[in-house]
Amino acid sequence: MIIVLKPHTSKKDETAVLREIRKLGYTPHVMRGVARTVVGAIGDERTHASLEALSTWPQVESVMPIQKKYKLVSREAHPCDSTVTTRGVMIGGKKFQVMAGPCSVESEDQLIRTAVAVKEAGATILRGGAFKPRTSPYEFQGLGEKGLKLLAKARRETGLPVVTELLSENHTELVAEYADILQIGTRNAQNFQLLIAAAKTGKPILLKRGMSMRVEEWLHAGEYIVANNNPNLLFCERGIRTFENYTRNTLDLSVVPILKRETHAPVVVDPSQGTGRSALVTAMCKGAIAMGADALIIEVHPNPAEAWSDGAQQVTLEGFKTLMQDIRPFITAAGRE
Ligand code: PEP
Ligand code: MN
Repeated sequence: MIIVLKPHTSKKDETAVLREIRKLGYTPHVMRGVARTVVGAIGDERTHASLEALSTWPQVESVMPIQKKYKLVSREAHPCDSTVTTRGVMIGGKKFQVMAGPCSVESEDQLIRTAVAVKEAGATILRGGAFKPRTSPYEFQGLGEKGLKLLAKARRETGLPVVTELLSENHTELVAEYADILQIGTRNAQNFQLLIAAAKTGKPILLKRGMSMRVEEWLHAGEYIVANNNPNLLFCERGIRTFENYTRNTLDLSVVPILKRETHAPVVVDPSQGTGRSALVTAMCKGAIAMGADALIIEVHPNPAEAWSDGAQQVTLEGFKTLMQDIRPFITAAGRE
């Protein structure tokens, strides 16, 4: 931490600050400028009391961290792009990946038809929710374990690895038994105990952005995964809540190049939750590719009008086929395959 003292702080007040820093277990290094004195306090904050409270002292102007609190996810720690591989599908490499499937698993027929169609159109990973985080308790909550079994069946039939949401710590073992990638949803993005439990499974984690999460908070959430010995982290932008309600969320495409600067982890974009409108999905896919995303996650349903969740944002099987054709030149232009 850097502690900046107010101009003209007396020797006595400066000594009191240095004494406090030592008392809390840090080593102070004093730098005297013309007008101000700056103190660098060296020590590990995980094992000592925080120095932030010094900002309440009358002689202290400000207290600033020297280091970012995320380390393992940062570019500084790992300058090269990292990749995440599941069942031979590598995310973050030269090849651009598309995850696709229904918002919710509803039935065997619905899931298998969708899985076969998205694979044929070029998707490489199957998505589908079995445990659904619904705003109202009266809405469809997902098929639970039955949904997971159907996802496993769809995987057997198509060979596509499966990404599905881990909603609660209680389901960790169960979901990890069936899923290839564990999705942490927007509502749980700062549920740190869940992040730790998910990380400990060793499975790749798709960490969605909390709907009101700042980039720094998101990176810290990602740090929980990697700090718990799981380097297989994917960040997924899915839109944030703003004043705008034409779209369900505001898909923040600027966060893609921001994440590319700040972290080495692959970046995924979800234009379905991001817009809430199927008609906008293709355009946002193109934008995400141009911004440098490594993968997309897209909701696809055989009959969106009768979907049990998120009907307005799911594209049809035919619509997905066209979308894949439409985005192809953008993938090539971005230097990906
Ligand atoms: C979903 O992928 O269907 C979903 C619920 O995602 P999010 O957590 O981004 O809302
Ligand atoms: Mn959804």
